[in-house]
Amino acid sequence: MSSPLPDLLDPWRAADSRSVFAGRLPLSSLPRLCASLLDIAGDVRFRIAFYRDEARRAVLKCEVAATLKLPCQRCLEALDHQVDTGALLAVVSGIDEERQLPEHYDPLPADEGMIRPRDLIEDELLLAIPQIPMHEPDACRIEARESDWASTRTNRDNPFAVLARFKQNE
Ligand SMILES: [Zn+2]
Repeated sequence: MSSPLPDLLDPWRAADSRSVFAGRLPLSSLPRLCASLLDIAGDVRFRIAFYRDEARRAVLKCEVAATLKLPCQRCLEALDHQVDTGALLAVVSGIDEERQLPEHYDPLPADEGMIRPRDLIEDELLLAIPQIPMHEPDACRIEARESDWASTRTNRDNPFAVLARFKQNE
């Protein structure tokens, strides 16, 4: 069962109280992610832990794990993409704070002092999706040919072509 995850939360207060949220969310509750999935069944496991670092920044570690069903861009059938990833984020309230962040943090802008934890989870999953998902050559229904690699390179040069393909698959 999911731990209660608030829709909105104050990240500085959460950091002061060292709040930890952990649980599961249905993938179907993440609309931006669903647009990239061939099958929206399943859950994402997450853990978000807030704390203050040595410079008193509000920081959080966001970890996610899920199996995403993506459309293989060669045969268009489902491929299981295992995600097990995390990010270290520092809450920032403006561009100046963002510029001063040490490199090992990703900035997390807090609009009007609040963040949406569900968006964090969804963003981590979206970042973990390969630009051109494809089966391993021996697992794909369509045999890999030299021409596939040529088209792969073209798509990488043009991310909109990939987006257009995702839309056709919806
Ligand atoms: Zn395939």
